[in-house]
Amino acid sequence: MEPFNTFLPLQSRFLTPDDVGVVRTHGAKKPVHGIMAILGMNGPNGGWAKTIPSFCPECIKEDIALCGAPFWNRTNLVPGLLFCSRHGRPLSSAICDKCITRSLHPDHNSRPGLHCGCGIAPLPGSTGLSSVRQEQELELHRVTQKLLDPNYLPNFTRDTLAKVIQQRSEEIGLTRGATLNQGRVREFFDGHPWRPVFERVKILAHIQSVSEYLTGNQIFRNPLQSVALVYGLFDSWPETIQAINSTSNYHHYEKPSSKKNFNTHKQTTIWRNNNRDSLFLKCSIEYSKIRDLNKNLTHSEIKHIVGGHATSILSRESLHKAGISVPFYKLTDEAYQQLDIDIAEKIFDKRDELAARGHSGKVSASTLLEDFGIRKYCLLKGHTPFADAALTLCSVLKQPRSLRAKAEQCRAPLERKRRPRSSKESVLIESLIQFSAPSRDIVEADSPNTCAAS
Ligand SMILES: [Zn+2]
Ligand SMILES: [Zn+2]
Repeated sequence: MEPFNTFLPLQSRFLTPDDVGVVRTHGAKKPVHGIMAILGMNGPNGGWAKTIPSFCPECIKEDIALCGAPFWNRTNLVPGLLFCSRHGRPLSSAICDKCITRSLHPDHNSRPGLHCGCGIAPLPGSTGLSSVRQEQELELHRVTQKLLDPNYLPNFTRDTLAKVIQQRSEEIGLTRGATLNQGRVREFFDGHPWRPVFERVKILAHIQSVSEYLTGNQIFRNPLQSVALVYGLFDSWPETIQAINSTSNYHHYEKPSSKKNFNTHKQTTIWRNNNRDSLFLKCSIEYSKIRDLNKNLTHSEIKHIVGGHATSILSRESLHKAGISVPFYKLTDEAYQQLDIDIAEKIFDKRDELAARGHSGKVSASTLLEDFGIRKYCLLKGHTPFADAALTLCSVLKQPRSLRAKAEQCRAPLERKRRPRSSKESVLIESLIQFSAPSRDIVEADSPNTCAAS
């Protein structure tokens, strides 16, 4: 889930590899003391970006998960952002401290828009801004959203950024070697149209007095601070990208040396193990691209196309762990059709069972798919027209007569195709039920949130 459901793709662009490791441990294993400092969220230039469950009131009408409830949009949760660029409006959160403290009120934070009764309000600082200021905040949101996507500008890294900032500062006369040109720096940033942003993200005083930030020796750990600085230096995002692209040298990996007289195979293995993380990232990005373009390929076929180290680095398990969805075992078209019918049957059976138990009203997809498993169902996306229809029709119990008639109509062909329970149908479906999807987050990984990041 890391690449698509966490802030890590954004944060890691501004952190050292060691820090990234700490953040990963914090997220995956146990809370790490001092994590806020590592993320640049406290200390002398922190405090302005708070971790609050913020959301866009318009986004939550569009970002609806399979279960019918709105989901948290990752970009709108980035601490310090004020506006949603998709809808051009301020982000909101619940008003009271109880509701915005996640740990105190997990129930109020289970999905965006809930609160204890205190109400919803735009984030502090997001109202009463001039149109120019609003546009700057929208731009911060836009750029952040791009950088959250691990596939976007993979060469936008801490090292490249340092180089770009250093070169640009020299070019426009802010620095000379390691020295700050105090007068020029003051004049440049004081009169800069983005000055209010520099002040809001608490970097103005630092860049004007500490030479390290403009000479590239220090990088602001907080993504919004670094983005504001580099944006300020170039005045536009396309120019920033151009500088990043021309500065980075594309040599992401140290190739194993080709000296003779040593065991090449062993050397390659050692090298691969040392570079496992970066290789995994590179291969998995390629993997996702190919998977998205070719819905019918199997896991091993995709690995084969990715080639190189993919065969030894990418496994179903490691991909699942990283939140990357892996194609379901490939079935023949006939088997898919049969499976579709089997699942649809299960959905109708479930509806009958619920109705018999006296349930009424709305039923979620996950309840209807309880026996099969909604995660596995998501993996079959595109192969289950019957089951999709069954889900829609069965999502409300005690339907009006017309709908019920429709449901029966839809069910009729199923009844005809239904085979005796003893046939091998149950073998297929049972074996698929046995297959347990390893990631709890596969549903989220497939959610529109993934697309929103691109
Ligand atoms: Zn929005
Ligand atoms: Zn509240």
